[in-house]
Amino acid sequence: MNDLRELYQETIFDHYRQPRNFGRLEGANRRAEGYNPLCGDKVTLYLQVEDGVIKDASFEGSGCAISTASASLMTENIKGKREADALHLLDKFHGLVTGTATADDLGKLAVLAGVREFPQRVKCATLAWHTMQAALANVEEPVTTE
Ligand code: ZN
Repeated sequence: MNDLRELYQETIFDHYRQPRNFGRLEGANRRAEGYNPLCGDKVTLYLQVEDGVIKDASFEGSGCAISTASASLMTENIKGKREADALHLLDKFHGLVTGTATADDLGKLAVLAGVREFPQRVKCATLAWHTMQAALANVEEPVTTE
């Protein structure tokens, strides 16, 4: 279990130091902002959606290791997914980090399961995901976790 925990931490720090899909997305047709005042995490998410499919995704912002790694892993995971499947993944991920679901089928996202032991960190982990939901719903108001 300790080995697994170390591997998880390594993956989180890897995505924190070198976030995937980081930067503004040219050609994005959906955009939303999220803010977690509890920790100070900020994220701007860009999506390119065509025919109900997320063709491309990127994010900008600044935040803690958990929020950055979660946004990085999320953009990797939702690319190529249908909108409905991305929202379904959000439900499963939310269940994972709040401890109501297992890591089944979640692949690398499982590395964030540890936040369930730190309730304040759950908002860091889910910020990008709620921002993705807002982007898909074309919500203009910034998302806040409060
Ligand atoms: Zn945070």
